Amino acid sequence: MARPSFEIGPIRVRPGLQRAVSLPITRLVTGAEVELPVRVVHGREDGPTVWVNAAVHGDEAVGVEVIRQVLADLDPKTFRGTLIAVPIVNVLGFMAGSRYLPDRRDLNRSFPGSARGSLAGRIAHLMMREVVAKCTVGMDLHTGSDRRSNLPQVRTDLEDRQSRELAEAFAAPVMLHARLRDGSLRSAAREQGATVLLYEAGEAWRMDEWAVRAGVLGVRRVLAALGMTDPGDEEPPPRSVECPRSGWVRARGTGLLHLDVELGQRVDVGERLGGLFDSFGKRVRLVHADRAGIVIGRSEAPVVNSGDAVVHIAETADSPTGTSHV
Ligand SMILES: [Zn+2]
Repeated sequence: MARPSFEIGPIRVRPGLQRAVSLPITRLVTGAEVELPVRVVHGREDGPTVWVNAAVHGDEAVGVEVIRQVLADLDPKTFRGTLIAVPIVNVLGFMAGSRYLPDRRDLNRSFPGSARGSLAGRIAHLMMREVVAKCTVGMDLHTGSDRRSNLPQVRTDLEDRQSRELAEAFAAPVMLHARLRDGSLRSAAREQGATVLLYEAGEAWRMDEWAVRAGVLGVRRVLAALGMTDPGDEEPPPRSVECPRSGWVRARGTGLLHLDVELGQRVDVGERLGGLFDSFGKRVRLVHADRAGIVIGRSEAPVVNSGDAVVHIAETADSPTGTSHV
């Protein structure tokens, strides 16, 4: 028996085809309609229904390119199951290069939303109703915020078996156990029973090629692990380093920031990570690691204030927990 068509918004996608659909969100003051652009790849054969989205934060471009590249070589004739791709969830923020919505709300604190709520709540609700509710697995693509750059990493509930298996399949350099945050897409989707991987890589409002590359490979590997595509013939990737927890080292003074550590570098407790300097180059403070682990994020800001987060260190599953003596 032929596979049924896939329904989304006003359209039906026949098996073996892919289609674009624009789901109405709101109308601008100019009268122009604002829509959520979605692409559905409805495979000819049965398989799971999966979504991949990016730009819940409107200043995060890396994931948009990841999705473009993943879609570019999917063939619905040989694909098994259904992929719903939503490259730009925060449409209004993306147009303005803003993390938030025009009403200053964080879309990733507005899930599951409601049909009669704020603009953020309405977008969240539309995403939940038309996309998440139809899927068993989802991938939510992000970058660092506030001039922070992230090592490619998957954040998920590593205590959940399927989440862990898919994080391993993604094979980003790091997989980090992450608690759910209220109002996030991941949290609302978990409530509905979906398995969700959050991918973080690169910096906001930049197109970091290495972050795009790791994302494309990771999403493809997850689709293959779910049996939706055939695995590629490339070498198996190095295993993700498992990290149970992480924390930011904060600046203990105000100054120009010079960091000596790169993303992905292993550091020891007390190791010097960089320094803070005044405008004539006099050192104000050193920055030291407060724990052993891997650098998974770093500030790219030239100037930091006392208390600002400067280096994000993830403890590895085998490293002892350090205490701060710096
Ligand atoms: Zn984000």
